[in-house]
Amino acid sequence: MPVYEYEHVESPCSLGDPFEVTQPLAEKQLVACPACGRPVKKLISLVGISAPKTNSELRDLGFTKLVKKDDGVYENVTARDGESRYMHRDKPETMPDLSKIIKD
Ligand SMILES: [Zn+2]
Repeated sequence: MPVYEYEHVESPCSLGDPFEVTQPLAEKQLVACPACGRPVKKLISLVGISAPKTNSELRDLGFTKLVKKDDGVYENVTARDGESRYMHRDKPETMPDLSKIIKD
């Protein structure tokens, strides 16, 4: 279940501000604090969302990451077997081979 962050519109109670609530996706957002009943508003939250950070994590998830090295030259830091490490704008054969990545 996703975690949402709320904060009291006025002053916080013992839950503090912001406080987290775990709610099913289908459930309506809270308009009142479950503890003190005063009005609350939902915050835009990134809780529970984690972005992959390392190149090998990206590769395992099926991403291809290109790092610009020079004008028209990119290093494929997630190069898989058989892929060219460097990609040149004018050389299509150096582009990542998507048919090897997309198997189904
Ligand atoms: Zn409260």
